[in-house]
Amino acid sequence: MADCGCTSDCGCAANDRSRLVRLLARLSNAHGVSGHEGEIRAIVREELAGHVDECYEDRMGNLIAVKRGDDFRVMLASHMDEIGFMVKYVEKEGFLRFAPIGGWYAPMLTGQRVVLHGTKGPLLGVLGSKPPHVMDDEERKKLLKIEEMFIDVGAENADEARALGIGPGTPVTLDRQFCSLCGDRVSGKAFDNRAGVALLVEVLRQVESPSTIYGVFTVQEEVGLKGAKVSSYALDPDCAVATDVTIPGDHPGVQLKDAPVEMGKGPVVSIADANGRGIIAHPAMLSWIRETAETNGIPVQFEVGSGGTTDASSIHLSREGVPSTVLSTPARYIHSPVEVIDLKDLEAGIRLLVTALKTRPDIPPRRPGGLA
Ligand SMILES: [Zn+2]
Repeated sequence: MADCGCTSDCGCAANDRSRLVRLLARLSNAHGVSGHEGEIRAIVREELAGHVDECYEDRMGNLIAVKRGDDFRVMLASHMDEIGFMVKYVEKEGFLRFAPIGGWYAPMLTGQRVVLHGTKGPLLGVLGSKPPHVMDDEERKKLLKIEEMFIDVGAENADEARALGIGPGTPVTLDRQFCSLCGDRVSGKAFDNRAGVALLVEVLRQVESPSTIYGVFTVQEEVGLKGAKVSSYALDPDCAVATDVTIPGDHPGVQLKDAPVEMGKGPVVSIADANGRGIIAHPAMLSWIRETAETNGIPVQFEVGSGGTTDASSIHLSREGVPSTVLSTPARYIHSPVEVIDLKDLEAGIRLLVTALKTRPDIPPRRPGGLA
């Protein structure tokens, strides 16, 4: 039974919402640091079963879901990986030193609990550091560095840690559960980019397009847009949209002049990111999205971003160039354990992409007969 009190297939709005929340919670609670995305891949495969024509894994670990249409190929990319850590050294006292995987801000990490994905199954640990009580005045003024932190799994020595299946290369992720806040807002870890993954799963379930749609769930975005690079080369799409999250400038500590989009006002389409060094979106992609939104009354925000980039930065440079843009869900506190999104933005993003894909962008043709 769904929340609306009807059967699970009734298709009403409350039913769609509870399905989306279940999917997002499942993806956010799952673990998949860059290079170890298997758990996310398995969930996506299961969620898409029966909804796509084909679903396969490439040699790098990208999961590619295909909905067949005509010769016009659209790539929709969503990275599965989350930022985390990797054990690099086991100290003789049993403490673990680790390397950050992806962009962490170290002070965010004090007091966090982590999951170590060792060879003998998952294991809990805590991120330890020097107690403030024994810091001198100078130390207290300084920001903690990642190198000063360590993981404590409770082991009394290195042999005990190793016997638990922990050693160099063990992947580590945050231990944090999805929860609902007020109204339409929810919080959890790794909404970057499980919000994008949830969006793409829903789009693939719903989309009816004349084009061939490749839903590509990419690996290793957070460490260099790597899965997107090889999959866009292999698929040779006519155009692409990456789905990710972006920073809204609507809470204390950040201003709209620095991050000019807001949570709750719709999905965000990138005109440019990283001040143009990541991607400058193809104008045909922007008009396609803009016209879809206007014609169908779907809220959307457009962004010139100065911070991070996405898989689209890699995809649009594949082969002869792939007209691309990014569709993001505004997410507060990204790259922290308590990211927050508004479900209305996620739902509008799904609607926008599903509706847009009924038509296609007016992109320049390839050279007839191939390259000269
Ligand atoms: Zn991301």
